[in-house]
Amino acid sequence: MSATHPVIASLDSAAIDGVTQLAPSPIGVQRPITFAKNAFIPLTTACRYTCGYCTYYDPPGQASLLSPTEVDDLLRGARAVGCTEALFTFGDRPDDRYTEIHQQLGSWGYDSILTYLYDCCERALTHGLLPHSNPGDLTDADFELLGPVNASMGVMLETTAEVPAHAGVRRKTPADRLETIAAAGRAQMPFTTGILVGIGEGWRDRAESLAAIAALHARYGHIQEVIIQGVVPNERSPYPQPDVETMRRVLTMARAILPAEVAIQVPPNLSPIEDLLSYGVVDLGGVSPVTVDHINPAHPWPAVEHLRGVVEAAGSELQERLAIHDRYLHDPDGGWVDDQIRAVIDADPALAAIPAGD
Ligand code: SF4
Repeated sequence: MSATHPVIASLDSAAIDGVTQLAPSPIGVQRPITFAKNAFIPLTTACRYTCGYCTYYDPPGQASLLSPTEVDDLLRGARAVGCTEALFTFGDRPDDRYTEIHQQLGSWGYDSILTYLYDCCERALTHGLLPHSNPGDLTDADFELLGPVNASMGVMLETTAEVPAHAGVRRKTPADRLETIAAAGRAQMPFTTGILVGIGEGWRDRAESLAAIAALHARYGHIQEVIIQGVVPNERSPYPQPDVETMRRVLTMARAILPAEVAIQVPPNLSPIEDLLSYGVVDLGGVSPVTVDHINPAHPWPAVEHLRGVVEAAGSELQERLAIHDRYLHDPDGGWVDDQIRAVIDADPALAAIPAGD
């Protein structure tokens, strides 16, 4: 069953059916292949949801919360090794069960994890890093709060299908995710989203999910990257990793559905990137030299030089990019980037020399 959201009702059902018939088809390796050098900062492991494939969240009483000092130390270390992006990704906002998290935030003077996130984004800017926050479902008011201190933001749609992986008393819903992506568009926030392949969705669900993202982008123009991510095995997940042919077919569908200006991204620590590059991948997302992928800790990011070798062996070049894409950073009509974000870029010749994404 699909999500109940206006964007789903607006989709061309016959066109979606047509895309599901596509066979995997290579188009040659694109040039360049981009990535962002980031630090992954997991502010809290508390999450109100309990997705069936996730090892990230900890239950109440066991969840961690990074202190301002710990965040500052991570940011300082990241800048020292040339990172440009502070990736704040964590579970959806803690609900009333996480009393210790709320008490700790209160003792530091914050009334929610999002007001703490705002402060941490300001700290990142002070350190000369561009914040990219991915804090789960957000409202218009949340984007109004966080927009001025983020170069870009994101949330995975994962799928428009109601899948058992999201079952339970507190469950992530595709309708909420779609509404978050729409709210990002209304806020003119350059945005990253994507689909998670292999959590119980079908081929039509995958096509519909990509079509929903494309429809929201057609309305707001705010999607800079779409991640095609295969689920990976872990101790909580019963879902097998999708094989290469499945990923190639999803990439072929993504190319058919998404406009060319939207970068197709595949995380290089979760898929055999050398087998997928010729299927329309143009971006590898954030790669960190200083932190692990806290969402998938058993899958370390490859070293940048290793990735460069893979990309060059495929006949392309690896190019670093910023967290915000060029068409937003240099839009003559403005509205996509706050002055304090632009000031951080302009103040650092090393940062200003790095191309934004396309
Ligand atoms: S996948 Fe995200 S929303 Fe789901 S339990 Fe994990 S951290 Fe929470």
